[in-house]
Amino acid sequence: MATLSFQDARQVVERLVSSRRRPPEIETVALLEAEGRILAEAIAADRDYPPFDRATRDGYAVRAAETPGTLRTAGQVRAGMEFGRELRAGEAVEIMTGAPVPSGADAVVMVEHSRRDAKTVLLERGVHPGENIVPRGSEARAGHVALEPGRRLRFPEIALLAMFGRGDVRVYRRPRVAILSTGDEVVGITEKPRPFQIRNSNAYSLAAQVRRAGGEPVVLPIAPDEPRRTRELIEQGLVADLLLLSGGVSMGKYDLVEGVLADLGAKFYFDGVLIQPGKPLVFGRAGEKFFFGLPGNPLSTMVTFEVFARSALDLIAGATEAPLRFVHARLGADFRHRPGLTRFLPAALCGAGDAAVVNPVKWQGSGDVVALTRANSLLVVSAAREAWNAGDWMPILPL
Ligand code: AMP
Ligand code: MG
Repeated sequence: MATLSFQDARQVVERLVSSRRRPPEIETVALLEAEGRILAEAIAADRDYPPFDRATRDGYAVRAAETPGTLRTAGQVRAGMEFGRELRAGEAVEIMTGAPVPSGADAVVMVEHSRRDAKTVLLERGVHPGENIVPRGSEARAGHVALEPGRRLRFPEIALLAMFGRGDVRVYRRPRVAILSTGDEVVGITEKPRPFQIRNSNAYSLAAQVRRAGGEPVVLPIAPDEPRRTRELIEQGLVADLLLLSGGVSMGKYDLVEGVLADLGAKFYFDGVLIQPGKPLVFGRAGEKFFFGLPGNPLSTMVTFEVFARSALDLIAGATEAPLRFVHARLGADFRHRPGLTRFLPAALCGAGDAAVVNPVKWQGSGDVVALTRANSLLVVSAAREAWNAGDWMPILPL
């Protein structure tokens, strides 16, 4: 079985999930409910944008060739009206931002560069043809496809759909993601745990992460460290579009998950990644369904979801791409680690602009949920380098 570098494991997940993806079912949702969903249709402009030559300044619509100079004032046009006739030679029309430029005019002189009297206006500066005008159709032509299927609908896409007059939109059904926690020590969160028992926090963090990623979590009962019941629950989980298991994938005597999956005929692509936290991460497929065996330590579970399962979920959901986007920040203090593992360390990004710095927060290892609540990001530490200085740029993953 294979232990891969972080980059190789990422590639394996992206490549395999992309290549085996089937288009999800489609449903129609109201535009107000569409945020975060993945577009299932091509969206074409219903008319030219802008729909007319639009003035971008308050001033005078003119023929550029007649400026600078004194022109006859021929009325006014504001946003929401039309001038109604062609601008004639020797004329200027008072125009407001957002108003349609009359035909015959080819530029707008800013009001700041004009002096008005009763019947004429003195335009002190010359303008070039096209100045202070956004030409009709220059943002999008009628019929032009502005959004392709597979795009996630963020607020800019929602604005576009609203602008095109779309009250509803076709999107892919949210993928169902089964969440199966394993471990004899794991109990329900409202139970009173014995001192040696642990509440099932992973089911809740994963459900929250799945939801944030646009999926529909299906939380299964806790699987004990016993093969028959574990197999039953895994079979239930494989009905969903993606199965996430937590725990039971290390090398211990009671880590049964891989064995049970193998009995079910699963194919494993890797069962270790050179990362911390999350090294024993398992990725495979059983029948048509992909699964991740996420290590059970809470930070391992959360981090491996964010850096692996989330992209797989995006692709299964119908997204055309699912890159992991790091941002960069300067280190607040010198930093070193032992190379060999790519680390994702709980970190605090503080300050703004040029003064922003990132610092790892103190943590007790991959069980330390308390530390993660004090972090707002993960510091991404390269496996290939040992030391960094205060002020060096480092990739981070905002949480
Ligand atoms: P495992 O990956 O099964 O070896 O579990 C590693 C550690 O994660 C152990 O300390 C477990 O108690 C803890 N753990 C496992 N499953 C969960 C869970 N569902 N919620 C919270 N902690 C867990
Ligand atoms: Mg366990």
